[in-house]
Amino acid sequence: MTKYVFVTGGVVSGLGKGITASSIALLLKARGYKIFMQKFDPYFNVDPGTMNPIQHGEVFVTYDGCETDLDLGHYERFIDEELNYTSNITSGKIYKTVIDKERHGDYLGATVQMVPHITNEIKNKVYEAGISSGADIVITEIGGTVGDIESQAFIEAIRQIQYEKGQENTFFVHCTLVPFIYGSDELKTKPTQNSVRDLRNYGIHCDCIVCRVPFDSGEHIKQKLSLFCSVPVSNIIDSVDVKNIYEVPINYYKQGIDVIILKQFNLPINKANLALWENLIDNVSNLKEEIEISLVGKYTELHDAYLSVAEALRHAGYAYHTKININWVDSEKLEENVDLSKVFKNTQGIIVPGGFGNRGIEGMIKAIKYAREKNIPFLGICLGMQLSVIEFARNVCGIHNATSKEFDENTQEPVIDLMADQKAIVNKGGTLRLGNYECNIKKNTLAYNDYHQEKILERHRHRYEFNNKYMDLLKEKGMIFSGINKKANLVEIIELSNHKHFIACQFHPEFKSRPIKPHPLFMGFIKASIDNK
Ligand code: GLN
Repeated sequence: MTKYVFVTGGVVSGLGKGITASSIALLLKARGYKIFMQKFDPYFNVDPGTMNPIQHGEVFVTYDGCETDLDLGHYERFIDEELNYTSNITSGKIYKTVIDKERHGDYLGATVQMVPHITNEIKNKVYEAGISSGADIVITEIGGTVGDIESQAFIEAIRQIQYEKGQENTFFVHCTLVPFIYGSDELKTKPTQNSVRDLRNYGIHCDCIVCRVPFDSGEHIKQKLSLFCSVPVSNIIDSVDVKNIYEVPINYYKQGIDVIILKQFNLPINKANLALWENLIDNVSNLKEEIEISLVGKYTELHDAYLSVAEALRHAGYAYHTKININWVDSEKLEENVDLSKVFKNTQGIIVPGGFGNRGIEGMIKAIKYAREKNIPFLGICLGMQLSVIEFARNVCGIHNATSKEFDENTQEPVIDLMADQKAIVNKGGTLRLGNYECNIKKNTLAYNDYHQEKILERHRHRYEFNNKYMDLLKEKGMIFSGINKKANLVEIIELSNHKHFIACQFHPEFKSRPIKPHPLFMGFIKASIDNK
């Protein structure tokens, strides 16, 4: 029978609930269990695909083309499993399903209500995740904080699951904050007490409290929490601030969170296989070299907007025992009269990641031109590839007004065009070219050198494509088309001859990078950047 772990949060948001859920998952996997993870987000968008990255952070794309919350990226990086459309459920998705069913007549005769119709739909999503994945343990994170109006239906649904499945099959982890108050110089437990009580008001008794604390809380604080929250001292876990998020699972392991869960589930406590992860931590805490990579984009004010890209850069750095310092460059600022040699003074490599709309693109194009002309290792991703094509068409091939149809619908020189199968699409949500598509790689190219493979599968999220009408001209001037999707005849990877390392791809390699398994394209780029030092 599948077992269920639920992770809720209280006091404040941004406590690292996603990291906690991921860490628990990693430890249970290390003990030999098959794990599946999912996140419930209480907002009403059907998915985060239409949200501004500056508000919401990056949109993480699963292999099956689901646009999801960035926490899914943490999940995949920690447990190294590919998640899918059952892994991210929003209120929008739930309500839409229920309303569609009502219109279809599925509830004929009934008054459709929050309980049981919405809550049943939520429970179905939890059970479906267990059935379709065949996991021993499903870990479900509830977004937001307990007490939010929006998340009440989710809390009620998991209360029902606790009642239906019983204590030996469900485990509730509540993440809270234990603040340190300067002046009185002590840790305060009251916010956690209140938050656990809120949860109790909804009928949920939590089995374990994970406290975000600046340092080890100590026996006294734990005893106090235990008394007021009715949770044994052993089940109160400190989540101490760490330099690197990948240390969190090891901290929890030392406090035995996985053992507590397995005991409640009456499951065997197999030996934990954490060797790879321990090596990783050892490596990360002893990085020998440092380089600077400039990330040029328009959402740089919120680093989470490029979370997977930043992580992928760091992962590749780990492989070469090198710390990656990211120089966050706001592309819009480059549009003014700035001295690029100053901006990129300490930079060994430049990356232009994905994006939408025309704000800041001329600044990105300037940075690409600089990388090309100064022979600085370059990696372009999605929009970054499209802009590399535009820059090359304009400044090398003499097509001065070259652009993308995304920026100018009536352009005479659409080197980047709307994909044919996108032309009739009206709705914006969930209609991009999403998820895994195959790409064939040409031999004797940078791409082949990175992948050592002729066929790859990578995740996509775009509406526009390279316009093949321009291929011969660009080839003639030195652009190499090293990756092609043969079925749709789409350009997937471009590179430049006469350059140290200039490569750009239409897909998003960052989603497949793992700390213990860096992505080949990022490895190639970081290696070239290190050599450039
Ligand atoms: N805006 C571009 C497109 O839709 C690039 C998308 C992206 O970078 N993810 O094709």
